[in-house]
Amino acid sequence: GATIGILGGGQLGRMLANAGSAMGYRFVALDPTPDAPMGQVADQIVAAYNDRDAARELAARSDVITYEFENVDADVAAMLMSESYVPQGSELLYTTQHRLREKRAIEAAGVQVAPYSEISSVEELREAVERFGTPCVLKTATGGYDGKGQWVIRDSSESDEAFATLSKAGTQLVLEQFIDFAMEISVIAARSSKGEIKAFPPAENIHVENILHLSIVPARLEDSVLREAERLAIRLAEGLGVVGLIAVEMFVTRDGELYVNELAPRPHNSGHYTMEACRTSQFEQHVRAVCGLPLGDTALLSPVVMVNVLGQHVEPLLERLAVRDEAAERLNVAPKVHLYGKKDAVYKRKMGHVNVLAESTEAALDWINETKIWKV
Ligand code: ATP
Ligand code: MG
Ligand code: MG
Repeated sequence: GATIGILGGGQLGRMLANAGSAMGYRFVALDPTPDAPMGQVADQIVAAYNDRDAARELAARSDVITYEFENVDADVAAMLMSESYVPQGSELLYTTQHRLREKRAIEAAGVQVAPYSEISSVEELREAVERFGTPCVLKTATGGYDGKGQWVIRDSSESDEAFATLSKAGTQLVLEQFIDFAMEISVIAARSSKGEIKAFPPAENIHVENILHLSIVPARLEDSVLREAERLAIRLAEGLGVVGLIAVEMFVTRDGELYVNELAPRPHNSGHYTMEACRTSQFEQHVRAVCGLPLGDTALLSPVVMVNVLGQHVEPLLERLAVRDEAAERLNVAPKVHLYGKKDAVYKRKMGHVNVLAESTEAALDWINETKIWKV
């Protein structure tokens, strides 16, 4: 079988390798951390992502190259394109690495984002804060994740401090109007190298301290809004010429209006629910898309709630798994546990997730509440 090389060897790579191995592919990861989550289930080259010799070795050992980590150096991606087959190209990577480029690309595809303004000086920030009103959100254009590199400006008097703090990162800044959303959702769409496109059902996402806590599927919205969210994700996959997966984070207002927040050109935490709850998982779909296979059916098989297992949740979860789960029996839910093989259960670190399959999302949420694991 062919070998798929992955830039990055974290949990997303591990789950890609698990799905793709079942389809007969071999995998090799490039990741600087020895015994990375993916290295435990596939081959691994231990080196920095932008180590050119290591990237060349990855290219030599792979028939197809993809990534699970989107801050791959664009130069390295370009070099890989000349030495191996990189069906996703480097352009989408370049676009989604920068919030301004990303917003412009979303708008060019005919999809709405929150009103935003490029900020290069404190004067520009003061002026834009006046224009948008408070609250509004100042973000670094590059490098942010889990809410890092952001400042919610609640009063215009905070502008100077917000600018001084975020401009330390040395990247461009962008100010966004605050969307008073009723819900956050995400849609993961796949486009194959042959141009076929399919979207997974939208997930309702609940964050705690800016880290994804729950994905609830089906999202508790009207069908018309759910269908529109899928249409937008498909339009973006088409318009951006995506190959592989594109995760589209959106805000839903009380009136059911949709604004795209940001994109990720890779498997996404909010798509982990697909592993047992859909006919095809996001990981299998990504492998299919980059290998030019027909895409799999994305239909939902069961209501599901995905709950993330952070460092502080590992011990109580393992204690729970060691004994008969009467709550699961009573509520008729099946909690499917996924752990990523990370050694240090550091507070807030993503260690795994549980897909709670149930007859209703309410029953799944009841199980999550009853376990008390996620009160920690
Ligand atoms: P991720 O870990 O998803 O990559 P991130 O650090 O890139 O996160 P965003 O997704 O841009 O950051 O924002 C984090 C969260 O902050 C959002 O999920 C949302 O809850 C809130 N947020 C961001 N921008 C806005 C906005 N314009 N209006 C309202 N809330 C916002
Ligand atoms: Mg982000
Ligand atoms: Mg986000």
